[in-house]
Amino acid sequence: MSNLLANLNTEQLQAVTLPAQHGLILAGAGSGKTRVLTTRIAWLIQSGQVDPAGILAVTFTNKSAKEMLARLATMLPVSTRGMWVGTFHGLSNRLLRAHHRDAGLPQLFQILDSADQLAAIKRLLKTLNVDDEKFPPRELQQFINGQKDAGIRAHAVEAWDDYTRQRVQLYQEYESQCQREAVVDFAELLLRSYELLERNEPLRRHYQRRFRHILVDEFQDTNRLQYRWLKLFADEGREGGAAMFCVGDDDQSIYRFRGAEVGNMLDFEREFRVPNVIRLEQNYRSHSNILDAANAVIRHNTKRLGKNLWTDQGAGEPIRVYEAFADGDEARWIVEEVQALVREGALRSEIALLYRSNAQSRVLEHQLFSAAIPYRVYGGLRFFERQEIKHALAYLRLIANEDDDTSFARVVNFPTRGIGARSLELLSDAARTYNTSFYATVPHLSGKPGSVLAQFVRLVEDMRRDTAGLPLPEVVDHVLDHSGLRAHYKADKDGRERLENLDELLNAAAYFAAEVQVNARTDADSEVDARMQAHAQLADFLAHASLEAGDHQADQGADAVQLMTVHSAKGLEFNAVFLSGLEEGLFPHENSILESDGLEEERRLMYVAVTRARERLYLSFAQSRMLHGQTRYNLRSRFLEEIPTELVKWLTPPNPRSAAGGAMGGVGGGYFKPSAPVPLERAPRPSFATLPNGLKIGQSVSHAKFGQGVIVAAEGSGTDAKVQIKFETAGVKWLLLAVAKLEAV
Ligand code: ATP
Ligand code: MG
Repeated sequence: MSNLLANLNTEQLQAVTLPAQHGLILAGAGSGKTRVLTTRIAWLIQSGQVDPAGILAVTFTNKSAKEMLARLATMLPVSTRGMWVGTFHGLSNRLLRAHHRDAGLPQLFQILDSADQLAAIKRLLKTLNVDDEKFPPRELQQFINGQKDAGIRAHAVEAWDDYTRQRVQLYQEYESQCQREAVVDFAELLLRSYELLERNEPLRRHYQRRFRHILVDEFQDTNRLQYRWLKLFADEGREGGAAMFCVGDDDQSIYRFRGAEVGNMLDFEREFRVPNVIRLEQNYRSHSNILDAANAVIRHNTKRLGKNLWTDQGAGEPIRVYEAFADGDEARWIVEEVQALVREGALRSEIALLYRSNAQSRVLEHQLFSAAIPYRVYGGLRFFERQEIKHALAYLRLIANEDDDTSFARVVNFPTRGIGARSLELLSDAARTYNTSFYATVPHLSGKPGSVLAQFVRLVEDMRRDTAGLPLPEVVDHVLDHSGLRAHYKADKDGRERLENLDELLNAAAYFAAEVQVNARTDADSEVDARMQAHAQLADFLAHASLEAGDHQADQGADAVQLMTVHSAKGLEFNAVFLSGLEEGLFPHENSILESDGLEEERRLMYVAVTRARERLYLSFAQSRMLHGQTRYNLRSRFLEEIPTELVKWLTPPNPRSAAGGAMGGVGGGYFKPSAPVPLERAPRPSFATLPNGLKIGQSVSHAKFGQGVIVAAEGSGTDAKVQIKFETAGVKWLLLAVAKLEAV
């Protein structure tokens, strides 16, 4: 026991060993909140105050849930089985599976991820002949999810105008479609499990008695419904209910756009009359250059609860800043630095490349791939979201749940089997008439459409029969062959990577099956029907695929560079962090710049990004960038200007012309502080020794338009050769040698 508590500072120790009462830990990044929460679980169990089944712990990502369980396994001599540790979605899923009947769902209900949901909405609009210009599917999706996140069903939405009334009607139709097809979207998982407990008193009492301690990480990012969900489990904070222990940081609240409310922290404190509010102020993660930069940035926000963070880890390395000509150059530079770090002995998994928007990963991936550096992308086009994987999963889903119309529509004619749009329209009309799923409607159709569709149904039934009782990986293998997917991609000359991905799906299934065996299902509450027996692990695997997208795309456990958005990096830490695309319009994001709340949220996001780094932080931006098929020319991010210059080392000379609010004029203004001329610390790796035309780094040149300047850096060769010139009056610019007419002076 003393072991558990060793190495905690006074406040941490106090937090870990609080009596069984409500507690709120409000503290900045890297101050040990997650560690305190994990240690508290271990301490509660080890000191015999609760057994593992009495713990409900909520984390923000699957990755952090896994890490927490792994930590607990090392801290505790007892098994962590029976402990409920997971995300809101994961835990809701668990609850709904165990009590599917009470929740009005078949045991094998499927989960729709957001792309599936969008497809389902589009299909709905089509069936109902609704103009998708008047009701853009994406907006409708946001509307529906927004209502669900607020805990509001279609019948309860207050609509004051016609347009809203029509949207509500579509929301209603969407709800019926999902129910008919036995599918559940992410927002529904939470709402459905909430309603289940709210309405079913015996069940609610059961869980209220069972969970003695509820612990919530990243509490600042819970939305209203999640907070109410927690309150249900905790019996609204009444005497005899569970003790709620929440940790959070208002400066890291970054999900406002999804309805998260920092206000939940204040409400919690008030509604639960929390007797213990503890602040942690020592940061154990980062060197002070990094921490000071983070503190300096976040200080520009006005809406803060306010706190101080310090570290005794010493200044460490300066923060390195690099300005690139274009996004491709930026990515190339990052990859070179990554290679240098790895050469010096860094673990790849301790290096993270962070970006604001998913679209930025492509160019990074491209450079990593060319340099043969293993990497994993979290978020974005994740493994389970790739086309071929979705096709394979659709077949598997149909085996588990034939009423899943989204899956039916996805693969009924993939690979092609001569089932045309007309047949599908007939089918969809008939399904509406009979109010049955596509699958169940097929026998009602006659003629050619009826017979080709019946053939497809037979194919699925054959697969279901032939795979009954097989181990999961064999089920997957069988389906890949008999669906024709493998043959299809084999015949496709560009299908090699897709084939590899299909094989990777097999690996994922094998890995999953092995893991499940280790953690054999322990939920006594779970009811198992005959069909479930036959495909025992399939439904679990499919749920896992929807919930944990991205976790199996690279070899499990391989040492790979980590790529993710800043949002998904929350709570994580790495020895080295590269944050690219620090440009106005990108980060801060253009949608947020004009609104002070939006800008403050972006700044919190910047704070999250910076505080992920333990030892090294690299910040970069590019003068031009291809995004969504357009080349954009951006100013550097105002957040860069908010970092005190003494913490920073520019690898390229700071360029006043790319500064936000600088010479080129920019958004916001007032952020530009003219930086003192900083001597060039390091020539950014010229990739050739001598420049063409007898030019050299350090040489004075003159340009027809920009006047006189000095060459400070060079990149590329041949027609791609570029030089960076510091002009006397025109600032610093990258120029293509082949185009710019330079004269030595
Ligand atoms: P974030 O806000 O980013 O989620 P956090 O407050 O949850 O951060 P942790 O991730 O728990 O912080 O801790 C940050 C790092 O500091 C971890 O590596 C953790 O192991 C370490 N750490 C925390 N407390 C101590 C301590 N008392 N002694 C040594 N290391 C510590
Ligand atoms: Mg944390």
